Amino acid sequence: MIEIVARDGQPQALLCPALVCDVCRLQVAGPGNIVWYARTEPERQSSPMFVAHKPCNRRLEAMLEPVYPRDKGWMGLWEEADRFIAQLAHNSRHPFAEDPDGTYLDQVVVQPGGLILPNIHRNAQAL
Ligand SMILES: [Zn+2]
Repeated sequence: MIEIVARDGQPQALLCPALVCDVCRLQVAGPGNIVWYARTEPERQSSPMFVAHKPCNRRLEAMLEPVYPRDKGWMGLWEEADRFIAQLAHNSRHPFAEDPDGTYLDQVVVQPGGLILPNIHRNAQAL
């Protein structure tokens, strides 16, 4: 996952955002994948973003298949980490002009334990 990592060293200890492989727990500082799952039934859902070194990717998929099973409508998706980060940096400064109504706002994130965080936008619409 994308994590804050405590680093010791000179000139000072730092807390650094980093890509950490969800299989081997080592930093991904080269070729890697961002992996997530999505489905549209019973509603638009996605998983959090997972991270894997390229050689760890198949093992990550095997770990996550029971959590986000294909036979329950989940689809595995991935993007090269470098490309994903470039798109993320771009989108952090550019609103989705082609989606002014924000259809993504109804999406909920399903954590690996099945936890669904409250969707404040959707809850506000229901009032
Ligand atoms: Zn790894």
